[in-house]
Amino acid sequence: MRTVYVNGEYLPETEAKISIFDRGFLMADGVYEVTSVLDGKLLDFDGHYARLERSLKELDMANPVTRDELLEIHRELVAKNEIVDGMVYLQVTRGSAGDRDFVFPDPEKVPPTLVLFTQSKPGLADAPAAKTGWKVISIEDQRWARRDIKTVQLLYPSMGKMMAKAAGVDDAWLVEDGFVTEGTSNNAYIVKGGTIVTRPTSSDILHGITRAAVLRFAKEAQMTIEERLFTIDEAKEADEAFITSASAFVMPVVEVDGVALGDGKPGPVAKRLREIYLEESMKVAI
Ligand code: PMP
Repeated sequence: MRTVYVNGEYLPETEAKISIFDRGFLMADGVYEVTSVLDGKLLDFDGHYARLERSLKELDMANPVTRDELLEIHRELVAKNEIVDGMVYLQVTRGSAGDRDFVFPDPEKVPPTLVLFTQSKPGLADAPAAKTGWKVISIEDQRWARRDIKTVQLLYPSMGKMMAKAAGVDDAWLVEDGFVTEGTSNNAYIVKGGTIVTRPTSSDILHGITRAAVLRFAKEAQMTIEERLFTIDEAKEADEAFITSASAFVMPVVEVDGVALGDGKPGPVAKRLREIYLEESMKVAI
């Protein structure tokens, strides 16, 4: 049984409790982060902490932990649960005012809720899917307009994943006004003539921690990057494509709406970036 963390306590998962009035439960009034663990070490912890602070600030929510306290909780959970490869999930909500009300409770009186738990994924970095690549379909982006805040409102992304599953593929790319925003839970890229194309950051997409790292590594490796909008038609004509996320790292995409990209196998840019990302991130993992 897992040991989880709830508001200052380490507990067996079956004994952890939060209120039915918690605003995370009633109103999706909460934010989250997922940090990968490889070989017992946390990847890009500081990137995730910085984004957590930003999400909280954008929602006027109090931050219940300092960077050092949060690192300690992550490490304690990894140790207690003997996680070698996997993830640490963390969620902060606006807490429970003991009733339901649209008005935010006074943060002086109602403390935020802080929950963390681990997920064990042995061999996370050697996912078989990385060798064959993902197939994706496109669907309309029907999420809210502040996708730069990492809220727990994951119903539409979850529906998108189910649409992908029903279509026999791995994920869905979301499209707004004719342009790809991102994947259901990842950032999207295409590659044409050696140039990596990805949507610039704005309130339309989540500012991926993996995205920032991968673009930095790509620049260091002298690869050409264009941060601009692209369509599904352009994606279908691309030489290759890929997605990035904290738990999938760099995952090749080999098919878009039934059209195979290039030779239908993971492309060289995606494969190289996956190698560089894993190698460089592990060097500075804590
Ligand atoms: N976009 C969305 C919508 C996501 O949910 C995620 C993963 N949480 C990402 C992008 C990738 O972000 P990161 O690289 O920080 O995991």
